[in-house]
Amino acid sequence: MNQADYLSVLETMRLRDGSLFPIPITLNVASPEGLGQRVALRSPSNHLLAILEIQEIFARQEEREERQICGGQDHSLTAEMQSWGRFCLSGALRVVELPLHYDFPELRHTPAQVRALLGSMNRRAIVAFSPTGAMNRRDEDFTKQAVKEAKAGLLVQPVVGEIRAGDVAHFTRVQACRALVQNYFDRESTLFSLLPLATRSDGLREVLWQAMVSRNYGATHVIVERQYAQAIESELGMTAIPFDRAEGKPEYRPEVAAILEQAYPPKAKQGLCIWFTGLPSAGKSTIAEILAIQLMEHGRRITMLDGDVVRTHLSKGLGFSREDRDVNIRRLGFVAGEIARHNGTAIVAAVSPFDSTRRQAREMVGDDRFVLVYVGTPANVCEDRDVKGFYRKARAGELKNFTGVDDPYEPPPNPEIRLETVHCTPQQNAQKVFDWLRQQGFVE
Ligand code: ADP
Repeated sequence: MNQADYLSVLETMRLRDGSLFPIPITLNVASPEGLGQRVALRSPSNHLLAILEIQEIFARQEEREERQICGGQDHSLTAEMQSWGRFCLSGALRVVELPLHYDFPELRHTPAQVRALLGSMNRRAIVAFSPTGAMNRRDEDFTKQAVKEAKAGLLVQPVVGEIRAGDVAHFTRVQACRALVQNYFDRESTLFSLLPLATRSDGLREVLWQAMVSRNYGATHVIVERQYAQAIESELGMTAIPFDRAEGKPEYRPEVAAILEQAYPPKAKQGLCIWFTGLPSAGKSTIAEILAIQLMEHGRRITMLDGDVVRTHLSKGLGFSREDRDVNIRRLGFVAGEIARHNGTAIVAAVSPFDSTRRQAREMVGDDRFVLVYVGTPANVCEDRDVKGFYRKARAGELKNFTGVDDPYEPPPNPEIRLETVHCTPQQNAQKVFDWLRQQGFVE
């Protein structure tokens, strides 16, 4: 968008030629090439999408206000412009290739393809509905009623933006809508297609924008929230079918409910990381192993990440300097986070002596599924137990940087669970952790 159109859109929702255009589209860069230069526009995966020949360089509105740049022709790169933080570029665009989408290719259509498919329905009107979540019973009934009244065909077009790794919501939403449309809507008069659009959550502008896009895809009627209906009719000449947001719990068809349940399982089936910290020989592994068996009995799938074992492969080669210790813990945190993200249960038993590093691990896993268990056995008791003879070696000077002897241990200030092993047996402590997990809903 060039500067004149940009300013006009901000002010009047129209391009300079008067046509409605509610959302400004600019190309922002940090350091522009000169005028007449060509820039390549690439997708995040580096596909060449288009080439822009720079005809104009101008400041964004925020910048204009801040620096009181008024009107003017910001056509060449002046010394003053060099001081701006960001620039907008505009110019002729040569499209090389449309962005590629690898998800749901069978549901991707160009506007022309959609118009052709809708045309073959032979309806005098087309109702467009862009669900923002999984469609529920009420959406279904409402949409069917609207289609019936208008004797129309139906275009169900969920908006899909950019996808990030681990974006469950996107796939779930599309799958849930598809299951509903396939099973409960008339095949002859319904088209299900994805609408690639970056949402901007901008109220009226956004609604008008989406309706315009639907119109370009062939819709004559749009289902919109009641407050926007009038604007759609007067600005776009489309028929708006007003929809009121529902209160209360939505009801889903069984096929949709099954997809939602799979994507958003109950807490007892969601991922979890139970992280034992404490001095060497405090009893972490012993308690963790008993807990693992109890949890398996209740249907949880366990991955044990025992500090000593991890150091033989995942962290092989790392030593016991502060830096190496931190790297080791962050690796554990990363792996535990992946396990939990896929609804598994990671049980970590590692000295993990430093509070700040434990907090990093918590962050990687996610605070709501990270359970820190402090095995608070006094140092002298640990040393008496000395399961692997490390304390003895450390005292003899054969082992350097041994936690509890010549390396610090910071007890966690706020663990979810604190255990005491002098008067409690390993079984009792495992049971304590198990009971806590059950009370929190992590176990059925
Ligand atoms: P860590 O994993 O913390 O280094 P381990 O679990 O490997 O510690 O070793 C703890 C040792 O202490 C085990 O040999 C265990 O049998 C013994 N022990 C004695 N009493 C207890 C107790 N109440 N809780 C846990 N371990 C205990």
